[in-house]
Amino acid sequence: MSIHTRTDIAESERGELEHTLERLGHPRFHARQIFQWIYKRGITDFALMSDLGRDLRAQLAESCVITTPVVDGQERSQDGTVKFLLRLADGKHIESVFIPDEGPAGSTGAPRAPRITFCVSTQVGCAMKCAFCLTGKMGIVRSLTAGEIAGQVRVLARELGFLDTRFNIVLMGMGEPLHNYEETMKALRILADEHGFAMSARRMTLSTVGVLPALERLATEPLMPNLAISLHATTEDQRDMLVPINRKYGLKELLDACRRFPLKRRERITFEYVLLREVNDTPDDARRLVKLLHGIKGKVNLLPLNEAAGIPFERPADDRVNHFARILADHGVTVSVRRSRGRDIRAACGQLITESPRMAPGARLASLIPNR
Ligand code: SAH
Repeated sequence: MSIHTRTDIAESERGELEHTLERLGHPRFHARQIFQWIYKRGITDFALMSDLGRDLRAQLAESCVITTPVVDGQERSQDGTVKFLLRLADGKHIESVFIPDEGPAGSTGAPRAPRITFCVSTQVGCAMKCAFCLTGKMGIVRSLTAGEIAGQVRVLARELGFLDTRFNIVLMGMGEPLHNYEETMKALRILADEHGFAMSARRMTLSTVGVLPALERLATEPLMPNLAISLHATTEDQRDMLVPINRKYGLKELLDACRRFPLKRRERITFEYVLLREVNDTPDDARRLVKLLHGIKGKVNLLPLNEAAGIPFERPADDRVNHFARILADHGVTVSVRRSRGRDIRAACGQLITESPRMAPGARLASLIPNR
């Protein structure tokens, strides 16, 4: 069989793998074993899948592959955050970030399992062009496949020794997940598979600028991740400028869709709000935000801007951030301020952009221009 017709098991949901096995003349239940090897043990070499018969292993090696992103670079922040540069099969790069522990210490003082989060990309670059985001500057190169999205989790869990540990994922890396709907949702189903990582949807968070038709569709999914909305502004004009997709799907419609979004008891939508000095950080903005969120089960996560060269905004001073948060809290809005992780290695929100670590500065710049 030629390489072109090989089935990539990394792109398969378990049902699809069962189908592949039947085609090869083997019982479907082997799919469970193969999923366990790939996701629970991090094994992608068929020869090592010792509970499969010799014939099946040989046949799989001949007719299937398990494409896995390759670690091309790894940087560790002072705060323990690790940024991975991953190379995809076509040579393109993406970044994924391991964030060790972001939760507050347990209130009882009792020992608590560390909270592990993987921040995963859904595209190479991004088409949304938010005015303050470095990834947006890259433009969109291409969308990731489901196997590439789930593959980031496989690689990080394996590299960090967390295959047996419970972890969270946030789709807050490069790209707009709702601009790559099918593959993103398929990746979440793969991650949720009971014979693979068996992740609960409660441990998954999808963050979006609000691509409305896709958001409406998400509202009907059987597998429902937590929802985070990148709001960032309190008037249509302001949001048009900061989050250009607002010109197509406006703030009002977005918030109406959030009001309709199905939430279970105790679930809430997170509204992310990047604070830009003297742009959207005024007390009036805070008060408008309170009004906008009226009637929505939500909470606000403030993200003081992570500054970067080429981003024409500044981070507000801490007391300004606190004042903004105080106004929200005084009006009964639950608010948190995101402590930025990994800023020293440019792994924080909006700072993911791929470049080869070995490249000269000139080549780095050139690599930011998507090749088409
Ligand atoms: N495209 C999705 C997923 C990216 S999540 C989305 O926009 O929601 C990354 C989060 O970091 C988003 O809320 C984004 O707006 C925010 N962000 C982008 N650039 C940032 C920056 N320079 N400083 C702080 N937050 C930023």
